[in-house]
Amino acid sequence: MKNDLVLVTGAGGFIGGAMVADLRRQGYKRIRAVDIKPLDEWYQVFDDADNLVLDLNLKESCERAAEGAAEVYNFAANMGGMGFIENNKALCMLSVLINTHMLQAAQKYGVGKFFYSSSACVYNGEKQTDAANPGLKEEDAYPALAEDGYGWEKLFSERMCRHFSEDYGMYVRVARFHNVYGPHGTWDGGREKAPAAICRKVIEAKVSGKHEIVIWGDGTRTRSFMYIDDCIDGVQKIMNSGILEPINLGSSEMVSINQLVDIVEDIAKIKLKRIYDLDAPKGVMGRNSDNTLIKKYLGWEPDIPLRQGMEKTYAWIYDQYMLAHNQTQSAVVR
Ligand code: NAD
Repeated sequence: MKNDLVLVTGAGGFIGGAMVADLRRQGYKRIRAVDIKPLDEWYQVFDDADNLVLDLNLKESCERAAEGAAEVYNFAANMGGMGFIENNKALCMLSVLINTHMLQAAQKYGVGKFFYSSSACVYNGEKQTDAANPGLKEEDAYPALAEDGYGWEKLFSERMCRHFSEDYGMYVRVARFHNVYGPHGTWDGGREKAPAAICRKVIEAKVSGKHEIVIWGDGTRTRSFMYIDDCIDGVQKIMNSGILEPINLGSSEMVSINQLVDIVEDIAKIKLKRIYDLDAPKGVMGRNSDNTLIKKYLGWEPDIPLRQGMEKTYAWIYDQYMLAHNQTQSAVVR
């Protein structure tokens, strides 16, 4: 219903910003976009949305956000790459306040549909010790041994969603995102994830003329990466489906970190000396998305090729980098 009020939380962030952009493209007229960050720090701001700066840890903020909404996409969380989540476990776990209060507020105001963004970090670490991971199935979250901090919070919040649905009859859908990447996301500052970090490091090497790159770990760990357009498409498909259990939303094109660096070097037309930092945060050995279930339910899976998505991501980060670089240069000259 294009005239219904849709709430997007975490709208100043990467995925939330992309969701608001997509809803507008589809013709949604009433979008409420909420984030804790000041507006000038949002990746994408649209003047025709109802943009609110609120701390959704607080129940009253969640109520302010949810009032009148027909649908809620809850993306707000304390989040980052391995470097961030390994060093901020308490902060990551505190995101439990956001989802708990959002669910309560949604229930209070009779929100029609609620989406929760979970993560592949809920999966049992013992099922991710092999770089040749065949793909994590939804059942591999149990017995529970999630990523410490961030992953446990996601698993707990998944359960909270389930019980709000079972006990109060709420319409709730949950997707477990595997690494999402693309333009308009974090690319520096410590919260960035591997695809953006590698793009930035390759650009730095190009611009500085120092042709080397520091890679976290030995480069053999594997992951899959989903382009943002597939993520946004998948979220809406899941939201409007009958899928009642948390489901994988990720690409099944698994690569090693070394292969990801190969792709970015190829895009940048450069070859760099690789320095492996074995003491840096690394995460599990191998992770991939088993898409059997999503294909069964939706007849669809994320399929934008990594190379294609990385070209767009690299181009966007290159522009951001050059903007920041030129501003620093002119400040030095002045
Ligand atoms: P992001 O950090 O870009 O966006 C999250 C946003 O939430 C930020 O803008 C942040 O300011 C906001 N936020 C944090 N605390 C808040 C609060 N108290 N009140 C209001 N806003 C608050 O991250 P993202 O990549 O867009 O991730 C969105 C969701 O998807 C998160 O729940 C994340 O855990 C999940 N997820 C993302 C990935 C990925 O690869 N990007 C993978 C798995 C799961």
